[in-house]
Amino acid sequence: MKCEYCDVLERNENIIYQDNDVVVAIKEYGLVEGQATIFPRKHLTILEMANDAILEKCSVIANKVGIAVFDSLGVQGTNLIINNGLGAGQKIPHFSLDLIPRQRDDNLPLFWQPQTSNDEEIGTTFSLLREELVSLQHLQEKNKDEEKSLTTAESKAKQHTEGKEDLDSKDNVDSKDNGKSNYMIKSLRRIP
Ligand SMILES: [Zn+2]
Repeated sequence: MKCEYCDVLERNENIIYQDNDVVVAIKEYGLVEGQATIFPRKHLTILEMANDAILEKCSVIANKVGIAVFDSLGVQGTNLIINNGLGAGQKIPHFSLDLIPRQRDDNLPLFWQPQTSNDEEIGTTFSLLREELVSLQHLQEKNKDEEKSLTTAESKAKQHTEGKEDLDSKDNVDSKDNGKSNYMIKSLRRIP
């Protein structure tokens, strides 16, 4: 079955804004009138598939839509929601942000009863998350180093014969690819 957002784009239906990267459509069956969906033009199934540039652009456009909603619909607030992955109730396999216009007493079912965690639970979650985040950060820095060393190696290779730089950059490519593919395999489990 065709992706609903790709279909909306193809039929040019309810689209209030679009550029080369991002599309904004008014939701036909939303929680409330004026709910807008912001999604990348390219079919990217989940949040993790979107690169930094696309994420940045989606956020910037979402903010502009929010300002327009405040000004034109006279709302008192907005919720920006991303249902990312099967477990989060993502129904359409195309990453998107939903902007929901709010009024103070609209009673939309967007609240939750806070639960208290004990110190041990918080401590475990803290360690696990921090460890994962540090390794992701490390991977990201490695990618940057690799880009740099590739550029250096390429320019040096033009002037000299193959040297140590090429070997170093190859090592970086291998470890980056391993890390990246593990990460992508984990992400695939969340695709709706
Ligand atoms: Zn799609």
